[in-house]
Amino acid sequence: MKTLKKNAFIVSCQAEEGEPLFGKETMVKMSIAAQMGGADAIRSLYPDVVKEVKNVVSIPIIGITKNRNLKGAFITTTKKDIDELVQAKADFIALDCTRRERPEPLPELFNYLKSKYPNIGIIADIADIDDVKNIIPLKPDYIATTLSGYTDYSINRPCPDYELIREIIKITDIPVIAEGNLSTPLEARKAILNGAYAVTVGTAITRPQIITQRFKEYLADFQDDELLAVGIDIGGTWTRGVLVDRFGIIKDSDKVRTASTGKEVISNMLSLIKKLKTEETHFLGVASGGRIDFKTGVVGFSTGLIPDWKGVGLADIVEKEFNIRPIVDNDANCASYFQHFITDEDNMLMITVGTGIGGGIINDGRIVRGAKGGGGEIGHIIYPGNTKECSCGKVGCVETILSGRYLKENIYGKEGKEVYKKIREYSKVMAWFIDTLKATLDFDKCYLGGVLPNYGDEFLENIKNSFKQISNEKNADFINYSDLGEFAGARGAALLSLHKGEI
Ligand SMILES: [Zn+2]
Repeated sequence: MKTLKKNAFIVSCQAEEGEPLFGKETMVKMSIAAQMGGADAIRSLYPDVVKEVKNVVSIPIIGITKNRNLKGAFITTTKKDIDELVQAKADFIALDCTRRERPEPLPELFNYLKSKYPNIGIIADIADIDDVKNIIPLKPDYIATTLSGYTDYSINRPCPDYELIREIIKITDIPVIAEGNLSTPLEARKAILNGAYAVTVGTAITRPQIITQRFKEYLADFQDDELLAVGIDIGGTWTRGVLVDRFGIIKDSDKVRTASTGKEVISNMLSLIKKLKTEETHFLGVASGGRIDFKTGVVGFSTGLIPDWKGVGLADIVEKEFNIRPIVDNDANCASYFQHFITDEDNMLMITVGTGIGGGIINDGRIVRGAKGGGGEIGHIIYPGNTKECSCGKVGCVETILSGRYLKENIYGKEGKEVYKKIREYSKVMAWFIDTLKATLDFDKCYLGGVLPNYGDEFLENIKNSFKQISNEKNADFINYSDLGEFAGARGAALLSLHKGEI
């Protein structure tokens, strides 16, 4: 019997009647292309196609045939199917080994194949672990996960079904071929690393109509227009809004004071969107303080800067009003995204000093959101020895020293010796803060935004000098002010909506 080599990459070149590439000639060309690309074997549909493909490629062929008229099992289900595939010179034959209704019993087919054609390898196409248990006594040469997700009883299986591979190798030594819903090279590699002996990819390589559709789906929300987006940034003090183009250039902007109740904040947000949104605008982004569940657009933990803000379903509220699903993200994430967008810095930290302290982390070009949107909530790291109570309920959060509130109370517009002491104290804590975070994240750039740039370059030099003192580093030039202006968060939110929240 022929064998497939370990870690083989198999390309399934199939087109059924009704598909645009149906026909011998196309499938032969597709198979040549697969071999040229390095495929170790071809899975080929229909005996007449197998025969032609065999003439032009040197790699092994797994032959199958399909009978879509059958209600249950339909892949190579009869002795006649087997005869035809053997005559076409298939090296392996795959049989539908699901426990669905079938024209001829499986044991009979196995017996027939094994006794009449002992040199042909048998591949058992299955849908779940119970299929595998049924088939083990019949001793197929390989088990393929091809039909996971395609039978009534496997419709809810994960996709791709790595779990099934792991389940199979636990109960049998028969090598497993991973097949079904593997769309990317990474997924194919993962299948092997989950225990598969070989891996088969079909649609992602050989069905251009589906490949086109995948691209198209990802671009489907782009309409025949200028790609404008409205971004709203709900801060502790101001609620700001912008209308931007795809480059983040502001076409219009406005702001209102952030109201004191959640209800008013929402109504202001909706009014701002209404005011800024043109007829051509199909993208909306909302930035808010607090932890935001990026997937659901719900405000999770919020520090109490806006009362009754926790649990507000911002995405649903906006969608209901404008019939557009918005991106909702943490305000500092949005600001740091805009900074990343402008500077192309893939590893950076943004500290926004506002009513509180916000943090936005870009790591390897992606926003660090964490499991529940708490990623980057750096203001609530505890500064040793600090005894001030924080709005989050903890004692000693660094936010109680570094926030704009603290600056306003102790430094802004004040003069005298006492103020310099406060500036030094502030710089020391900020330097400690940056050093701590750098040890965790190793970013290339640290941007200080929010109100901090208003305090001038001398203030920044103080922070840099403090950093050099405590970190034993000679250079602190990676610390800079962010000079993107007050609309950075709103612009970031708008751009994120165009980028589907990804970078
Ligand atoms: Zn706190």
